[in-house]
Amino acid sequence: MNAKENIKLLINMQKLDIKIFRLNKKKKELPAKLKSLKNKLAEQQKLIDDKQHVIKNALVQRNSLEVDLASKAEVRKKLEVKLMAVRTNQEYKAVEKEIFGIKADCSLVEDKILENMVEVEKLQNEAKEFEREIESLQKQIKAKEKEIEKEIVLAEKELATLNSDRSTKTSEIDAPHLKRYERIAKRFPGTAIVPVLDKTCQGCHMLLTPQVISNIHNIDLFNICESCSRILYLPEEESETEKKE
Ligand SMILES: [Zn+2]
Repeated sequence: MNAKENIKLLINMQKLDIKIFRLNKKKKELPAKLKSLKNKLAEQQKLIDDKQHVIKNALVQRNSLEVDLASKAEVRKKLEVKLMAVRTNQEYKAVEKEIFGIKADCSLVEDKILENMVEVEKLQNEAKEFEREIESLQKQIKAKEKEIEKEIVLAEKELATLNSDRSTKTSEIDAPHLKRYERIAKRFPGTAIVPVLDKTCQGCHMLLTPQVISNIHNIDLFNICESCSRILYLPEEESETEKKE
């Protein structure tokens, strides 16, 4: 087999390698699709933790307000008893004033408790909203995981077919040419073998030397770009391989 025939086979081999490369890349990147969902879940978890913390503090505060209110009520009760026992009008007025004061204090604390209750209810509703969001995210993650598993299985099947196709093609190419291609493909995956356009290597875009250009039609020569070492071919060689396919 002459060099040009080997090149045609290598052009096809590279197409296959590009497919294999893309599929492997896709397979590797699939689990990353879960990442944004998992990040969202962690964010939501953090929000709910913060919210629970605020609720806890508010409840502690309410407890101390209730203790305060109870002690004020106690004082008020004592004053009311005292009021019954006073003898002078002046004393009566003084105790009455005290009762009036403590009543006002109680009502302030009651207002604060009420405000606190409204606030806690609001916070709890918000926390529930976060919980619902978390549930929905967990469902989405599960569904996505299943989807990704399926896609990985499919990709593996396709890869197996492509790889077996590749090993068949490998046996058709002359060993030294194949070796050379594989060596260059390691450095330039997907562009080890490139067309020549306007006397330029389409891999590194350098102008080719007159020597390479004059050899380019020689069917017995394997043309290599002197700048980047990629294997060169003429665009018509590729269209010939397409006709053959
Ligand atoms: Zn080049």
